[in-house]
Amino acid sequence: MHPATLPQASSFNPLSRLPEELAQKMEEAGEPSFRGRQWFEWLWRHGVLDYRAISVWPARLREAMAERFPFSRVAVVTQQTATDGTTKWLLRLADGERVEAVYLPHRWGDAVCISTQVGCNMGCRFCASGLVKRIRNLDAGEMMEQVRVAHAWAERQGRRLTRVDLMGIGEPLDNLDQVERFFDLVHEPLGFGISYRHLTVSTSGLVPAIYRLAEGARPVTLAISLHAPDDALRTRLMPVNRAYPLAQLLAAARHYAERTGRRVTFEYAMLEGVNDSLDQARRLVRLLGHFPCHVNLIPWNPVPEHPFRPSSRRQVEAFLEVVQAAGISCTIRREMGQTIEAACGQLRRRGEEAWTSP
Ligand code: SF4
Repeated sequence: MHPATLPQASSFNPLSRLPEELAQKMEEAGEPSFRGRQWFEWLWRHGVLDYRAISVWPARLREAMAERFPFSRVAVVTQQTATDGTTKWLLRLADGERVEAVYLPHRWGDAVCISTQVGCNMGCRFCASGLVKRIRNLDAGEMMEQVRVAHAWAERQGRRLTRVDLMGIGEPLDNLDQVERFFDLVHEPLGFGISYRHLTVSTSGLVPAIYRLAEGARPVTLAISLHAPDDALRTRLMPVNRAYPLAQLLAAARHYAERTGRRVTFEYAMLEGVNDSLDQARRLVRLLGHFPCHVNLIPWNPVPEHPFRPSSRRQVEAFLEVVQAAGISCTIRREMGQTIEAACGQLRRRGEEAWTSP
């Protein structure tokens, strides 16, 4: 490739591109298409920070690419590791915005929980991330960057990252085009090769986007933030319920399960005296009926700005018993990262305070 023949790269971000798109770019410039697959492989499997490190390319190509297709990796601002191995990163994006990602070691396969937006507009009353309104969506490359940071850290620890949860800052289905692109990027065998079945996307309940996601027919796990067994309480906790009440949400969830063959997960944060009574457990059972789903009870991490308190362990276990006794699969999420600021959004805001302090 001669530098003069390379297309201008103004809007072309290689970090958001699939191997076939990179191959096409190479072909347009008169290079063999396999160079595009190498491009992808070296960006993600080898995690190069600079084209000059792509040793399978001739020197003239490396120089030309560095000039025409620069890319910007995220920078780790802070890292905190809890005694259980949970590790949380505050990351700076190319434009200076910050997001966070959390590494979760599990017996059944380590996961990274990533962010999909800077801030979030959904306004869930119990959430730290929702305290910062959405500033912008992340692109698929910025989601991949969070996986790259986690993957590199896992390799250094002798661990293996096998799962990705889109449950960090942001409402993923409010950024569905980039989220679907991310699914295909992270699934790509030339890179991280993570199975669709090991990807989980959470939503506060954007019903039209659930139907759109179902059309993609990728067998990713859908995790719906439910948090209440009736419309009145759910609307109080989650304003999105006004637009998409429970009947619509459950219908969309059922459609998703039928279309993809995947069991839907319902997340339920346990808030003392708000949604954790045994009567509410029975209402939850009636709401879900014979739906083939899983219910995940989440011990809630206090957020100083919100008035809620976590339910006691005894209450969470009693609630669990009611749901399980009805034949619904239900577990309590293991509490992780207790020695770090583990509620989503907390690290980012603390970091901002520190940076803006004189
Ligand atoms: S719980 Fe999720 S959707 Fe709701 S405000 Fe927080 S980040 Fe947004």
